[in-house]
Amino acid sequence: MMQARALLVPAALVLGGAGLGCATTGVNKGDVNLVSVQEEWDLGNQLAADIAKQAKIVADPAVKAYVSTMGEKIVAAARHDSELAALPWTFDVIDDPQINAFNIPGGHVYLYSGLIAQARTYPEVMGVMAHEVSHGLARHGTENMTKQYGIAIVAGLVLGKNPAMYQELLANILANGAIMKFSRNAEREADDLGVHYLYEAGVNPQGIVDFFRVLMSMQQSRPSAIEQFFSSHPLTEDRIQDVSARIGALPPKPLADGEPGFGAFRDRVAKASTKR
Ligand code: ZN
Repeated sequence: MMQARALLVPAALVLGGAGLGCATTGVNKGDVNLVSVQEEWDLGNQLAADIAKQAKIVADPAVKAYVSTMGEKIVAAARHDSELAALPWTFDVIDDPQINAFNIPGGHVYLYSGLIAQARTYPEVMGVMAHEVSHGLARHGTENMTKQYGIAIVAGLVLGKNPAMYQELLANILANGAIMKFSRNAEREADDLGVHYLYEAGVNPQGIVDFFRVLMSMQQSRPSAIEQFFSSHPLTEDRIQDVSARIGALPPKPLADGEPGFGAFRDRVAKASTKR
């Protein structure tokens, strides 16, 4: 019995062997993620290529440039505590009236045109961006996939040996506008990191709270438009209070409440979006 158990341990390690690596970044310190960063980026690039073929990505180069600048500003603010911030990230706008945004493994973030239309200010959109980038930096996608499916299945997936599951994952992302439902803890972590990186980037983190308020009010007026976002990012009054408390504890410094190009960006997104 003892012998059998002793043999089981190395076998379990071998399963995730190719990708075995504890997180060394500040953000992920102490977390064990059995998918290597390289594997995660490879899987993410494959998914992003397929999403580009199947989702309606806004093609306007000015929209792409603006959303990329927004995203890179948050990633740059994370350079000091995450090695993932040095890797290539991509940012896109999806033409969809839903108020949604999501991150997939490997540094890809998508904002829906419906979210950009509904946000009133630059810090509100940057708040969503910071939250989604934070999910990526904290590797919540692969972390949750491993919890849900087990490392053996996920290791096969990242190595390209499980095409059926890959197609299922891709179909899920396209249908639900999310990689999966995140836990309350993952949401709290993405909120905390999001506040921190917004502040570091010099953007008023109050945008996160303001946009939460917009979402809460839409729960009554247009519940179907926020269904996707709420199902993958559960939002509660407690969560809003936590974020407010965290913002209140930050040392005062000059923070941007706007950005000169934001109005033109919103106009271009509206113009590029399908009229419904
Ligand atoms: Zn979230």
